Amino acid sequence: MLRYLLLTILLLLVARAFWRLMDGVIEAAGGTSRSRGRAPAVKLVRDPVCGTYVTPRSALSLTAGGGTHYFCSEECRRKFAGRR
Ligand SMILES: [Zn+2]
Repeated sequence: MLRYLLLTILLLLVARAFWRLMDGVIEAAGGTSRSRGRAPAVKLVRDPVCGTYVTPRSALSLTAGGGTHYFCSEECRRKFAGRR
C-alpha cells in the first residue's frame, strides 16, 4: 500500500516536470501567451536553395534585394548568399 502511494507521488512529480518542460518548448517555439488567439494556419515559405518549405518563425532569414528569404539551414543561407 505504501509502495503504491510512493509510486503515485513519483508519477505526479514526473508528470509535473514533463509539463514544465513542454511549456518551455512551446515558449521557445514562440507560442507565448501573446499568440493564444491561435492563427488558423502556419504560413509556409520556400527555401530558394533546396526547395524545402519552412515556417518563417523557425527558419533562418536573409534580407536581400528588397525581400526577405527564408532558409532551412545555415548551409542553405550561405549557399544563397554566395550565389549572388
Ligand atoms: Zn534548405
